[in-house]
Amino acid sequence: MNKAVFLDRDGTINEEMGYINHISRFRLFDFVPRAIKILNEAGFIVIVVTNQSGVARGYFDEQLVREIHERLVEDLKIKSARIDGIYYCPHHPQEGRGEYKKDCPCRKPKTGMIDLAVKDHNIDVSHSFMVGDRYKDIVFAKKAGLKPVFVKTGYGVGEYTYQRNEWKEEPLFVAENLLEAAQFIRDTASVSVFSD
Ligand SMILES: [Mg+2]
Ligand SMILES: [Zn+2]
Repeated sequence: MNKAVFLDRDGTINEEMGYINHISRFRLFDFVPRAIKILNEAGFIVIVVTNQSGVARGYFDEQLVREIHERLVEDLKIKSARIDGIYYCPHHPQEGRGEYKKDCPCRKPKTGMIDLAVKDHNIDVSHSFMVGDRYKDIVFAKKAGLKPVFVKTGYGVGEYTYQRNEWKEEPLFVAENLLEAAQFIRDTASVSVFSD
């Protein structure tokens, strides 16, 4: 079985800009290729899981989401970093239009995207991590049986500063950004080989 690191998208690998409703608003953080390469070399499958309810709301279409993800994979490939899978939820339970308005199993914090990735990539969740910039990513990680790592990019620093007191679930580690998160995950995983 494979170990994996699941990554939130907006605010974790690219700048939080609200809805990314045009490819010009997709700005990858400069440390991301290095971070992902560290995870690749540490033997993790790397998978992006992202809610994109802007599709349901009619702000942009799935074609744009796919275009952004193709660019992401290409930009990383140029820098020798590899993403193994990208899963997105285009739905919303209340706001959706047409077929996109549904109480789907894939919208985080529901774990449908993880369930699918686990099947597609033969993943052992108990040795896998989830990195995100929102408290809800921590809740999502716990629900899916993943180890949660919180990053202070995107909404992270604000949620950490003003809302941490109310958190019921704790992250395993709070990182400045995805690079620090990747280093932590690499080091933690290499230690746990001996303690298993
Ligand atoms: Mg985010
Ligand atoms: Zn969905």
